[in-house]
Amino acid sequence: MSNYNWCHNPDCHKIETQSRVRGSGDNKVLRTIKINTDRQWNKDTIWDYFCNNNCLFSFLNKFRQEVANIRPVNKPSETPIQVEKTKYESHRYKWTDSGTERVPYQATRTTISLKNS
Ligand SMILES: [Zn+2]
Repeated sequence: MSNYNWCHNPDCHKIETQSRVRGSGDNKVLRTIKINTDRQWNKDTIWDYFCNNNCLFSFLNKFRQEVANIRPVNKPSETPIQVEKTKYESHRYKWTDSGTERVPYQATRTTISLKNS
């Protein structure tokens, strides 16, 4: 027996796709997508609760205030870093009448690393 969830987008069953059609004859319905939570490719992720990106973002948009209230952010967070700039020889190509010409120049590489605390 497999474990499953129903897609949590409250409007999942209003999206017109063949995969949602259930029933027979004149008793057909569009049904919320059933998600098998035993599959391995994305086990223990948000995809245990939403059948696709559209349903995830519809849910987030509809319940944005409630989602934000789960963990309010009232001030920015900061991560101490070190910024190191190093010069290195690079080149660019310049168009000429006979094709391209390799032109050297000194480039700058910026490396950001986390400060050891
Ligand atoms: Zn869905």
